[in-house]
Amino acid sequence: MKIQFWGVRGSIPSPGAKTVRYGGNTTCIEVKTDSGQTIILDAGTGIYPLSQQLLSVMPLTCHIFITHTHWDHIQGLPFFLPLFISGNDIRIYGAFDPLLQKDIGDVLRDQMAYSYFPVRETELAADIQYTSLRERQTTEIGSTLVTGIITNHTALNFGYLIESNGKKVFFTGDNEELFNIYSPEDDSYEEYNQIIQHKNDFLHDFIRGANVIIADSAYTSEEYLAKKGWGHGTYEYCIEMAKKAEVPSLYFTHHEPLRSDDELDRIKKQLEARFSSSPGTPLLYMAYEGLEINL
Ligand SMILES: [Zn+2]
Ligand SMILES: [Zn+2]
Repeated sequence: MKIQFWGVRGSIPSPGAKTVRYGGNTTCIEVKTDSGQTIILDAGTGIYPLSQQLLSVMPLTCHIFITHTHWDHIQGLPFFLPLFISGNDIRIYGAFDPLLQKDIGDVLRDQMAYSYFPVRETELAADIQYTSLRERQTTEIGSTLVTGIITNHTALNFGYLIESNGKKVFFTGDNEELFNIYSPEDDSYEEYNQIIQHKNDFLHDFIRGANVIIADSAYTSEEYLAKKGWGHGTYEYCIEMAKKAEVPSLYFTHHEPLRSDDELDRIKKQLEARFSSSPGTPLLYMAYEGLEINL
């Protein structure tokens, strides 16, 4: 399996001199299986440069799994060029939205209304199929399995586990560590702690055995103090998650839009200095556009 990052930024694209090395496109990850299937995780603006490369392999069959429909994970989809070309077979998967009571196709079609985009979804020439997924529902793509698990975000978000040819990768999508909403003196505090423990165990068991985690690590632990409840992870929490799930490699992504290349370099060095001698710490990588993982 070959994994390539096409967008590593969270929230909003951030082009500019300070983000040239890591890249400014929002979330998009391409997974190419050993048997040649193309799976795409999220359709942030990174899917646009990916689509230009895919133009050379028409007709195309691909499977796009959307973690959730916040802008930074779908805003590139209307510009995914293979949608406009007949003969292409494009399958799009995601959660049913319980707030809007809409399936993934309805939500994505909405962003192609004339108010937002000049071409209607019905005018696209490719064969497009939408599938709404339930938690823990496994999609079989040949011998590759893709399973979603709900993670902790402000919208319903699926983290996806991809298993192919004996290798596994887990992508969190957007994910914040669970925290107790009660104060220690409240009656419900202990009970809530147990719920958190149970949910964490469930997540770690789900991920265990993966070769790689790709995780939302928008904040440092210092920044997080002012951003608790916004739905994003910290570097420290992601390391803890990988250790608990015994995963050997961790890729940080969903970088803050204002985070410069130099800051990302500095943060990685500091994390390695703090954690690398601690038993069970995974190898740490800062994801950048173009980075490839070969499993
Ligand atoms: Zn996001
Ligand atoms: Zn989000």
